[in-house]
Amino acid sequence: MPFSSSAHFRRFHAANPCASHQHAPVPPYRRFSSSHDDLPPLRDEDIVRVAKEPQHQLRLADLVRNGWPPLGEKALLQSANFSLELIPVRLARRLQALRNLPYIVVSNSHIRQIYRNYRHSLRTLLPWWRRRAKGAITTLEEEIAFTDVLAELVATHQNTIPILAQGFLESRKYIAPADVTTFLDEHLRARIGTRLIAEQHIALHLSSQPFGQGLPPSGQTNTQAETNALAAAAVVSNDTNMAPPTSEASSYIGIIDTQLRPARTIDSCADFVADICELKYGVRPQWRIDGEPDTTFAYVPMHLEYIVTELLKNAFRAVVENKMHREPVVITIAPEPSGGNSDDSAATTTSSGGNNILPLDDNAAGVTIRIRDRGGGICPDVLPNIWSYSFTTFSDYDDLPAGSSPGGGSVDVSDGLNIIASSNNGGSSIAGLGYGLPLSRAYAEYFGGGIAVQSLYGWGTDVYLRLKGVGNIE
Ligand code: ADP
Ligand code: MG
Repeated sequence: MPFSSSAHFRRFHAANPCASHQHAPVPPYRRFSSSHDDLPPLRDEDIVRVAKEPQHQLRLADLVRNGWPPLGEKALLQSANFSLELIPVRLARRLQALRNLPYIVVSNSHIRQIYRNYRHSLRTLLPWWRRRAKGAITTLEEEIAFTDVLAELVATHQNTIPILAQGFLESRKYIAPADVTTFLDEHLRARIGTRLIAEQHIALHLSSQPFGQGLPPSGQTNTQAETNALAAAAVVSNDTNMAPPTSEASSYIGIIDTQLRPARTIDSCADFVADICELKYGVRPQWRIDGEPDTTFAYVPMHLEYIVTELLKNAFRAVVENKMHREPVVITIAPEPSGGNSDDSAATTTSSGGNNILPLDDNAAGVTIRIRDRGGGICPDVLPNIWSYSFTTFSDYDDLPAGSSPGGGSVDVSDGLNIIASSNNGGSSIAGLGYGLPLSRAYAEYFGGGIAVQSLYGWGTDVYLRLKGVGNIE
């Protein structure tokens, strides 16, 4: 077995690079037993009405404000109602943005599928949303049913990115690249938020059932509500990294790891990307971590994993293509000190339930990670395009399905290119979608971080990834 990763690990990543492989597997959540036949249809005026509500900006601190799981009944209901407050507005606004695309673009079968997914999800949430003035989720039974709706939402939107990529690729004659980038930037950022809110509640739900004890061992007699919760504890989705609902997960609040150690994430993602290189190019690039590898901070591991995987794919591909793979890619971890002069330093407590104090004292407020490769840098002609969705200089047509033909790199690829098929064929590719940099930046910026690329053309590239942890958010 030439590779260090298990088949499970590989499958997990192939399905979604955002998948976590660091922590114990979480019971997947799948129930979705409720029928949708009895749901009222979604009318245009519903969409308009929901979209008009103010959209609260999501902060990392919002996601931990109900404290450590297992949550008590009140905190769990609060978390559910908070999710309900935030998600439908986001869905309705995305529906409007999709409708505002040129008609011929929305008519594309892939874009239409995404549109239908949004309609469906809003329709399932609308009955809850309508009741929210009176308190929509007031009992544990309701909370279980609502969590089920959220789990279905997460599953419905699971495969969005390759579908959208395919849709825009097929529609590229009818919409300017800059408009695609604007739409996708907004759309994918909104998707990050919606998923986070839903996944956070589902994770809190799973780690709080039954209250105070974590999930009971199977075979134990349960009340109907508990039985439902357990039945429910069966895929949020395979790109959902949730804390295992056991004591091993003591550093987790839902999907946030309050003691996330970037060095560990980097090693594991680098190992995975090196596997891809070994498969594809027959060489295994090296890497070295320096700086302060013991740094920890509070962050969403699946976001860090997504970003680091994409940045390392770029760095490893560059060193292999530049025949410099014997020079290690050097990853430097620099913590941003917490406390000190930061105005935000008081935010180490949760905003509700004052007894839930986050142990962030030893944590960095944020982290900067520099990835330095000797891959030859980025040509000045290419540099202005690297943040555009679907821009790529990768052109390995061996990887493409039959029927596609070389299009000369960049966005000019053949109509025969089937992104959805290639993203589902079980193999993670080193590059080619052109979404790595812009989407990584969207993830980093979501909580106030960023990504900067410095190219020393003819030599190599430095990528600076800056992330702000929860401790730095007021
Ligand atoms: P993809 O990797 O699918 O091409 P990305 O958005 O990740 O899409 O990157 C876009 C382009 O930026 C790449 O095709 C490559 O030309 C360039 N690039 C990104 N990172 C590096 C790097 N470390 N060294 C050289 N070129 C890079
Ligand atoms: Mg890439």
